Amino acid sequence: MTAWTCATCGEAHSGLTMVFGPTAPDPWWLATDAEQADGELNADMCVLPGIDGTRHYFVRGHIEIPVLDDGVGTFVWSVWVSLSQASMSKQVAHWDDPARARLEPMFAWVCTRLPYEPTTSPMAARLHTREPGVVPWIELHPELDHPLVTEQLSGITMHRVAEINAELRDRR
Ligand SMILES: [Zn+2]
Repeated sequence: MTAWTCATCGEAHSGLTMVFGPTAPDPWWLATDAEQADGELNADMCVLPGIDGTRHYFVRGHIEIPVLDDGVGTFVWSVWVSLSQASMSKQVAHWDDPARARLEPMFAWVCTRLPYEPTTSPMAARLHTREPGVVPWIELHPELDHPLVTEQLSGITMHRVAEINAELRDRR
């Protein structure tokens, strides 16, 4: 295979991570030990106690951004969104349902801060359920004036993927 050279900067970007995301929604990191003990967290779902016996429900989904360079595919932000109790009940009831991809999209709020200005939490979105075993995809509100929305709609270059990688590496 010949070396791939970036059309933007002329360098060869290699070994880039194409999926980034935290293992819990932002409210989980802010919750007290008691709230976490009263809540629930696994790789795909999260529940936190709210006020007056209410609960907050979160699921993990993928914001998929097409990469415009040939043969590269998709860059993914793995983020958490909050759902209403009714939507969460539907998610749980249909978790193993082979036909669950036919569920209507669900209104959701992004609850993960990504490295964008302005903040990505909260951002209005819709959760699209896919086949069992496949993480749902997240459609951002297409009319929101936000750089992440523009990227989801228009795609990004590998050069931008390299920038994101460098930025997240520096944060750690
Ligand atoms: Zn480049």
